[in-house]
Amino acid sequence: MSTFKAPKGTYDLLPPDSARYLAVREAIAAPLRGSGYGYIETPGFESVELFARGVGESTDIVTKEMYAFETKGGDRLALRPEGTASVLRAALEANLHKAGNLPVKLWYSGSYYRYERPQKGRYRHFSQVGAEAIGAEDPALDAELIILADQAYRSLGLRNFRILLNSLGDKECRPVYRAALQDFLRGLDLDEDTLRRAEINPLRVLDDKRESVQKQLTGAPLLRDHLCDACKAYHEEVRELVTAAGVVFEDDPRLVRGLDYYTRTTFEFVHDGLGSQSAVGGGGRYDGLSEMIGGPALPSVGWALGVDRTVLALEAEGVELELPAATSVFAVPLGDEARRVLFAKVTELRKNGVAADFAYGGKGLKAAMKAANRSGARYALILGERDIEEGVIQLKDLESGEQTAVGVNEVVAELESRLG
Ligand code: ATP
Ligand code: MG
Repeated sequence: MSTFKAPKGTYDLLPPDSARYLAVREAIAAPLRGSGYGYIETPGFESVELFARGVGESTDIVTKEMYAFETKGGDRLALRPEGTASVLRAALEANLHKAGNLPVKLWYSGSYYRYERPQKGRYRHFSQVGAEAIGAEDPALDAELIILADQAYRSLGLRNFRILLNSLGDKECRPVYRAALQDFLRGLDLDEDTLRRAEINPLRVLDDKRESVQKQLTGAPLLRDHLCDACKAYHEEVRELVTAAGVVFEDDPRLVRGLDYYTRTTFEFVHDGLGSQSAVGGGGRYDGLSEMIGGPALPSVGWALGVDRTVLALEAEGVELELPAATSVFAVPLGDEARRVLFAKVTELRKNGVAADFAYGGKGLKAAMKAANRSGARYALILGERDIEEGVIQLKDLESGEQTAVGVNEVVAELESRLG
């Protein structure tokens, strides 16, 4: 133990569990890579103003959850609380939208920071994999993203998740609805904070998680009943395409999201085994965001899936991922000459793509065999003085316990063929 601990609301990823996080990131990325999305990486911090404008001045993220600070040079920066604003900023800065075909399709993976009240599934440092399709208004694109997230979760073996789908309308119909909702909210018995929120961003009140508020919202007007014809047709098309792909979703007319920039298609992936932190991912269309951060009109759609909660969801369902063994072969040298010979074999195995490790630190046979077993390796290579004289290496199958002597020059090929 050192004097220091991981900061509140954070945790370290350590082996062997960390392998599951890598596998989850990989599983989410795989369908994106296969669908024309290119990898993008942006800085861990941005101008605080980007998030204030891009995420929304009155959102919880910006008002309460952001790690904002001033640099020694006087710049106002914030650790990124989410990925979309940064990705769009980077795409605009590099003129990706002018370079070729639209949409520009990008995916990312990284750390995000929110100053939240830590609890299971809610951390101050967490990890997301996300995708953005920038510069096209096409219901097939919205459908594609929903289908790809579904594919990612299914490839991991997750089953008990649900897809909630809604439309938030656009700049034609949303203002009309907003006014109707505001009228309704003004008549409720709400605390001052919530009433203020109702004036600034009434849709967000629908997202209030408190029972006392939810009860009063029963008769609230629904956006569904206020959608303009264009939004209605667009949404219907998204629903049909997703359905045709065999992906099951639930219409959730009350679904709104914590970020201001969403328009039309909005969706969330929830997992029923996670208690109150049930959202494993979410996303939607954000046609106005580019203009909000000073860019041209670029209708876009995207999602972000939370890696931490996806891992918790796997645990909740008892899904064991099939992870490749970290080490396939473990070398146990007995004596200095054996060290040199086996170290060379380990190097050769590694070059040939066989995961191999070595008993370092001059261990005796017993301790070295213990290390071999602990490594999870299928095979041990054991080399003693007599073996050297005979020109062989002992190859031990650690599963069956069976041991055979193999010629020094044949052992690499023998292992390769045994490991397939
Ligand atoms: P919530 O309603 O639970 O606060 P959110 O709407 O703020 O979620 P998004 O901004 O949509 O979440 O982020 C997408 C995903 O990132 C979430 O579905 C979740 O899996 C993950 N996520 C968000 N905040 C956290 C956090 N503090 N800790 C762990 N994962 C998080
Ligand atoms: Mg949140």
